[in-house]
Amino acid sequence: MKRDYFDSEPRSNEEIDGKPCRTCVDFKTWAKLTGKSGAKRGKNCPLDKDQLGRNTWSFLHTMAAYFPDRPTDEQQRDMKTFINLFSKFYPCEYCAKDMQVDIANDPPKTGSRSDLSLWFCNLHNKVNKKLGKPLFDCSKVDQRWFHGWDD
Ligand code: FAD
Repeated sequence: MKRDYFDSEPRSNEEIDGKPCRTCVDFKTWAKLTGKSGAKRGKNCPLDKDQLGRNTWSFLHTMAAYFPDRPTDEQQRDMKTFINLFSKFYPCEYCAKDMQVDIANDPPKTGSRSDLSLWFCNLHNKVNKKLGKPLFDCSKVDQRWFHGWDD
């Protein structure tokens, strides 16, 4: 099924240039849709939805962990712009569309490193909830993405 870039509903059979969208589905689904066995899944292959998601969350949470404690007005503006643009270009279009809705309902909090870390944690939890995954305890976000786990 061919879709416009910002069409909203998730579709496991959505296509880009006539091919199943790899970043919109997990690898198994992609292999099924393309009729490929999946046996040749190697290290240097394009990302599927879940690999893309894991890598992207790692970047976003780490970026938030290193955001200034006292950001300037310009840094705050830039971060908001970054998040808005990011949500337009994230290469899983229904994920991006949902993120745009989440951002509209709860705009990015950029007042400090800890505000931003918590905001991303809550955003990630909205996706976790949608996917039926356990929610992450956001009081531990710095241990996970900044200081490391307490012993
Ligand atoms: P991930 O959810 O990728 O998490 C990686 C690690 O982050 C976890 O191991 C955990 O240690 C930590 N973590 C988990 N939750 C939190 C949190 N709340 N705060 C801080 N750290 C946390 N997939 C879809 O199927 N549908 C979607 O609509 C969708 N939307 C997405 C939107 C965005 C912006 C991104 C970046 C990804 C989206 N994904 C979506 C992918 C999805 O969120 C997961 O990345 C993917 O399912 C792989 O999940 P995972 O279990 O490996 O862990």
